[in-house]
Amino acid sequence: MSTRSLIVGAGLSGAVIARHLADHGHQITVVEQRSHVAGNCHTARDAQTGVMVHVYGPHIFHTDDAEVWDYVNRYATFRPYTHRVKATTGGQVYSLPVNLHTINQFFRTNLSPQDAQDFLAQQADRTRTPPQNFEEQALSLIGAQLYEAFFKGYTQKQWGVHPTQLPAAILKRLPVRFSYDDNYFFHAFQGIPEHGYTALVAQILDHPAITLHLNTAFRRPQAADFDHVFYSGPLDAWFGFDIGRLGYRTLDFECFTHAGDYQGCAMMNYPSADVPWTRVTEHKHFAPWEKHESSVVYREYSRACGPQDTPYYPIRLTQEQALLQHYVARAEQERGVTFVGRLGTYRYLDMDVTIREALDTARHFVAQLAKGRIMPAFMVRP
Ligand code: FAD
Ligand code: UDP
Repeated sequence: MSTRSLIVGAGLSGAVIARHLADHGHQITVVEQRSHVAGNCHTARDAQTGVMVHVYGPHIFHTDDAEVWDYVNRYATFRPYTHRVKATTGGQVYSLPVNLHTINQFFRTNLSPQDAQDFLAQQADRTRTPPQNFEEQALSLIGAQLYEAFFKGYTQKQWGVHPTQLPAAILKRLPVRFSYDDNYFFHAFQGIPEHGYTALVAQILDHPAITLHLNTAFRRPQAADFDHVFYSGPLDAWFGFDIGRLGYRTLDFECFTHAGDYQGCAMMNYPSADVPWTRVTEHKHFAPWEKHESSVVYREYSRACGPQDTPYYPIRLTQEQALLQHYVARAEQERGVTFVGRLGTYRYLDMDVTIREALDTARHFVAQLAKGRIMPAFMVRP
């Protein structure tokens, strides 16, 4: 059975679902309010320098999911890239994530892996077990000195609240290593598409059964013209924000060009509370296979997201959780719509997880139709 489905949003979620359904004989219309595809992964060449810029912030593809890695490699050539992050604090440059080099440099020691492990165990404050929040988690892992130098100020700037108000899970994204391995990620596959993420997403959407409308914002009455809607816009926007807005952090980028090499690496973090920005991204270092004389640099600042701003990071503190549960309960009552992706399910999702969930959602939809269950209404639970 063939359906006419509407996809709201041409980010990775929308594109992957659109392609799977189109490949299975469905007619797909995609509406995207921006002037480009790829959502927040959008990349574009800077006209002046020719550098490929990650317009909404730095994006590195990393995953352990072999099927997802094969999937993206079908639509783009990925070049090897290993993310190595530096941090400037207290007038020194260190390596992140915290590794043996960071520890030995910071404490002016030459500890072996086992000695460093024993040393940090002495530094660690494990009086609160299990750790209840970000600060307790950090103190129990690395102790007060490393926490103050690398995490406290950065986290306060990034999230706008004291680290004791944040869930411990945010820190679990970052490992501590007792070796000199300074790879920021520990996944089996890592890379960056040679011609950028926008070319990747455009390729996924390139199918005769997919009609794409850019610069087109979705309006609820449009849904009536379709058998099903896959909605990757903000969950609260679907309901007109009628019981309040879910909280997000947004980012401001101070962009400038530089003749030559500005900082010698793709990403330099500034964890100190007295520096107003969180990190500086130098985009040409994301494409080490290209040669550019000049450079494009983004200084990144985080702040609360207003109604007119681009939503970046879902905050998910206690008050957001209560509001979220209200919206989720109502979303589950909706028929003919599936809420997907970072905004539709109000979660921080990396690109690989976004693709995995989009593929699973589209497959489930096709399988349900094959069983004669028409227009299933479901959502990925936040
Ligand atoms: P989005 O990319 O947000 O796409 C949703 C689309 O829907 C947007 O284009 C939006 O314009 C459109 N839309 C919304 N409402 C409407 C409407 N009413 N009508 C029409 N269109 C609408 N992931 C990684 O794996 N590695 C990284 O290094 C990484 N770095 C990141 C850095 C930053 C600063 C941020 C914010 C995220 C990062 N991510 C990273 C996560 C990555 O951006 C997401 O996984 C991915 O963008 C999610 O895709 P999506 O399609 O769900 O959402
Ligand atoms: N973080 C920090 N100092 C750093 C880098 C990260 O305190 O130099 C904390 C911060 O709270 C951040 C979290 O670790 O939100 C996750 O960091 P990651 O680099 O994964 O952030 P993202 O790229 O998702 O913004």
